Amino acid sequence: MADFNSVCVYCGSSNRVDPRFLDTADRFGKAVAARGLRMVYGGGNVGLMGASARAAHDNGAEVVGVIPRFLTHIEQPHPSIRTEVVETMHERKRRLFEYSDAFVVLPGGIGTLEEIVETLSWRRLNLHTKPCVFVDLAFWQGFFGLIEGTIEAGFTPPEFRNAYMAVETPEEALEAIERALAETAAA
Ligand code: AMP
Repeated sequence: MADFNSVCVYCGSSNRVDPRFLDTADRFGKAVAARGLRMVYGGGNVGLMGASARAAHDNGAEVVGVIPRFLTHIEQPHPSIRTEVVETMHERKRRLFEYSDAFVVLPGGIGTLEEIVETLSWRRLNLHTKPCVFVDLAFWQGFFGLIEGTIEAGFTPPEFRNAYMAVETPEEALEAIERALAETAAA
């Protein structure tokens, strides 16, 4: 199997969301720790980002945050989580990408969308084959519909459907990544 040591999470930074979303983030952090993986994330101690990083850290996982300097006042890094401060949003995304073997997308807003859309667009251009998994089918249904619309209209090739996976739970996301990496290694 291709190495699976490090997983990046893209997820919302808002605290004002249904607690079930924060629970999902907490579960994800625990699942990362239980599998001995490293978590890479946006470095903020807020919203689902903070919940997943705290859960991973508190349960013994190595956690690395990457945050742009101007956001450190707003997204406030966790004092005992290793956090790299960069100058730009682009630098943050580049490091998140480089440090990770796979990406998990939990519910989030426009920032989460921006991050995963760029990662998927690189996949579309064959710049990488790192697995991308969305957690919470109901939440992401509208986004999948949008992608499907671009496929049906001929803008995106049908093979792009293989560029991402969707599952219900954080644990399933990590299992799906392991399977995908094993298949890539066997191909
Ligand atoms: P949101 O889903 O809107 O709560 O945003 C989730 C995270 O994405 C937050 O940490 C944002 O700072 C981050 N984010 C938003 N836009 C970008 C971007 N262009 N590049 C990197 N990170 C971003």
